[in-house]
Amino acid sequence: MDNSIETDMIIDNKRGHEYDTANQPLYYSTAFIRKSLDDEEDHLYVRNSNPNREKLEEKLARLENGKYGFAFNSGMSAIAASLMTCSPGDHIIMPADMYGGTYELSRTILKRYQLSFSEVDQTVSDNVTNAITENTKAIYIETPSNPTLKVTDIRKIIEIARKNNLITIVDNTFMTPLGQNPLSLGADIVVHSATKFLGGHSDVLAGAVIVNDERLKESIQEMQVVMGTGLGTYDCWTLGQHLKTLAIRWKQSTENTEKLYKFFKSHEGVTDIYYPGEDSLHLSQANHGGAVISFRIKDESKAQQFVDKLNIPLVSVSLGGVESILSHPRTSSHLALTEEERQDRGITEGLFRLSVGIENADDLIADIRQALDSI
Ligand SMILES: *Cc1c(COP(=O)(O)O)cnc(C)c1O
Repeated sequence: MDNSIETDMIIDNKRGHEYDTANQPLYYSTAFIRKSLDDEEDHLYVRNSNPNREKLEEKLARLENGKYGFAFNSGMSAIAASLMTCSPGDHIIMPADMYGGTYELSRTILKRYQLSFSEVDQTVSDNVTNAITENTKAIYIETPSNPTLKVTDIRKIIEIARKNNLITIVDNTFMTPLGQNPLSLGADIVVHSATKFLGGHSDVLAGAVIVNDERLKESIQEMQVVMGTGLGTYDCWTLGQHLKTLAIRWKQSTENTEKLYKFFKSHEGVTDIYYPGEDSLHLSQANHGGAVISFRIKDESKAQQFVDKLNIPLVSVSLGGVESILSHPRTSSHLALTEEERQDRGITEGLFRLSVGIENADDLIADIRQALDSI
C-alpha cells in the first residue's frame, strides 16, 4: 500500500536496511570506496552524487508527484539550471511580477549567453499568446505573484505552451508542493527556493528542480553535476530533516493565514488585502490560499511607526519560516524598480507582506492589532 506524503517524508529507514537508525546517517565524505576497478559504483565522488543528496532528491520528487528531483545549492542555481535547458537564440516569456533575483539573472548573465526574454502580465493569457515569437522556447510562471499575490491560470498557460511546442517552468515556492502541484497540471519543470517553506527554519539556503521527462532530467542533472551546483552534503541532511515537519508546519501556517485574513478584513486601519484564499481561479489549481498575505495600512506615512510597535513578526526579508516575517517590499525586494514601476505594481510605502509562521494565531493577531491601533 502506498503511503501518503506526510508518512513518506518521515520514514528515512526501515528495519533490515543497511543502517538501523531513525534518521539517515550523515555521510560526510567527498569520496566513496570502490569495490573493484571495473565496478560502476553508485556513489564515487561527492559532486556527482552522494547518499544524502540521493535521499533528499527522492523526497523532493515524491513531494511534487514527479519522477526526478534535484537538490541545488540555492533557489537561484535551481532556476538558472531550469532556464539553461534552453539554448542561445531561444526566447523565454517571463511574468511581469517575478522574483527579483530571477529578473536579474535573465537580464544580466543569461542575456550575455544570447537568451532573450519578454516580461508580460500572465494573468491575462492573451498577453502570453501575443508574446510568442518563432524563437520562443519556454514560458516561465510564478503564481501567486510577489508581493500582491496575483494569480496566473497555470492550466491555460500550459495549454498555450503545448499548442506552440513550448516547455513550461513553474516557480512553486510560494505554494509549496503541498498547496499546488504544477507537474500534475502538465508543467514540464517545477522549481523551488527550498530556502523558504521546504526548509522552513530560516537556516538553509537550497533549491529544488523536479521533472518527469527523461531528456529534461539529463539536462538538469548535467547542469547540477558539471557546474557543481548540487546542494552540499550537510545541507541535504538538514533539509531532509526539515521536510519531516513540512506538512504540519504548512497546516499551521495556512490556518493562521486564514485567521489573519479575517482579522485584516475587520480592521479599519487596513485598506487593501492581497490573499488568494477566496480566488476561484487560484482554488481551481491549489488547495488553499497559502501562507503569504500582503496588506496596505491606511496611513501610509506611518509604516515605520507600525513596524516599531510590533513584537512578534520579524521585520526582515525572506519567507516560509516557522517565525512570521514581515517585509516591506518598497524598501527591500523591490528597491531596484523605479518609483513609477513600483506604483504600477501597487508597491507603495504602506504595503507590507507577511509570511505567516506557526505561532499561536491569537498572539499574532493581538500583536498586529495593537500595532495598527497605535498608529
Ligand atoms: C527566494 C526566492 C527565490 C530565490 O531563492 P534562493 O534560495 O534565495 O536562491 C526564487 N523564487 C522565489 C519565489 C523566492 O521567494
